[in-house]
Amino acid sequence: MENFTFNVSTDIRFGKDRLGELPEVLNQFGKRVLLVYGGGSIKRSGLYGKIMDLMKENGNEVFEVSGVDPNPRIETVEQGAEICKAEDIDVILAVGGGSVIDCSKAIAGGAFYEGDLWEMVEKRGYMGDAVPLVTILTLAATGSEMNRGSVITNLKTKQKLGFGGPSFLPKASFLDPTLTFTVSEYQTAAGSADIFSHLMENYFDLTPGTDVQDGVAEGLMRTVIQNAPIALKDPENYDARANLMWASSLALNGLTGSGKAGTWSTHPMEHELSAFYDITHGIGLAILTPRWMEHVLNDETVDKLARFAREVFHVQESVPEMAARMGIQKLYDYFVACGIPMTLPEVGIEDDSAFEEMAAQAVAHSKIDTIGFQPLKKEDVVAIYEACMTPSSFI
Ligand code: NAP
Ligand code: FE
Repeated sequence: MENFTFNVSTDIRFGKDRLGELPEVLNQFGKRVLLVYGGGSIKRSGLYGKIMDLMKENGNEVFEVSGVDPNPRIETVEQGAEICKAEDIDVILAVGGGSVIDCSKAIAGGAFYEGDLWEMVEKRGYMGDAVPLVTILTLAATGSEMNRGSVITNLKTKQKLGFGGPSFLPKASFLDPTLTFTVSEYQTAAGSADIFSHLMENYFDLTPGTDVQDGVAEGLMRTVIQNAPIALKDPENYDARANLMWASSLALNGLTGSGKAGTWSTHPMEHELSAFYDITHGIGLAILTPRWMEHVLNDETVDKLARFAREVFHVQESVPEMAARMGIQKLYDYFVACGIPMTLPEVGIEDDSAFEEMAAQAVAHSKIDTIGFQPLKKEDVVAIYEACMTPSSFI
């Protein structure tokens, strides 16, 4: 296990009927609030009205950024940072999924950043100040509610880049599973695949001696496998939604990633799919992951892949390579059963014309060619994209 610092101080308010605590939480930072939200789901669910009533009663002055897109855009970040500067905002309240929270983090930093905000993102690390951030999560997926990261898209340059720093960690996050009852089947499946992918990115790493991290990750992966189908069938099942929500936060708050090399592979490849084709993040990950696993299956990786099959999917097979293949197949079949389209043409990527450019960018924007579970060169990434063009079988 490698050295690490684990300091995740987000004040988590988990459970139903806790929104009444919002004024007390906001008052720690001041009265001038920038409310950030997406395309209207919080208005349709009635959450927007409840929050506005609470803030009115609390004497807050509220400014708004609305219409944050899935794969949040740099232009929205610029708009929010302008408001923070002009209106002397004390606290940002992000209400939504990962896109809204990520956008809010970039706004929070942008409020203190002198210069072009896309340059701020391109630096990847942000060590400056940020406006305090409080979140109300409405979709279990990214873990952004309890981590320091943000992913912002620039459609003009076809770039989607992760960046972040200590000041982006939310001060407080409200995790009310009932707020996710209205999440569609498609987004529930995509969010669950994203949680699963965060766990796998940390799990598939060659750092020795990480039993705590790997055991926790296996338990969380089994939790997702068990609860996502329940939430898909019965969207108002509180415990299924609660387990997915808490798994979302724990999958990417450092619990399973600290002490490891940090060798992420599928996220850098997926970010190019989203940057070029604006597809749903979790769906892109689900499509890529089994093909990536098969591509990196070799003598060095087979034992970990076989352990995954046995511990996560209860595969009982003694030959390591066969066990590994059965695990990959089970993961693929699980995503299919969740209703996820498992080829790129099904999500609108009809041909491979951009694969070379996307693969070059995936390598340029990450460390996948040097420190991955298995380092991937541009040709490897192209081969993985190609394998996603048709349905697959792994045994
Ligand atoms: P999202 O993009 O925030 O939301 C997807 C869709 O779900 C939106 O159309 C949204 O509608 C809708 N939605 C959200 N809550 C809902 C609810 N309660 N009921 C009905 N509809 C609801 O999805 P996400 O998966 O959470 O975030 C994806 C983004 O996060 C990607 O850009 C991804 O790259 C990034 N990401 C970040 C991290 C991180 O650590 N920071 C990690 C992984 C991925 P409205 O817009 O109308 O609300
Ligand atoms: Fe993700």
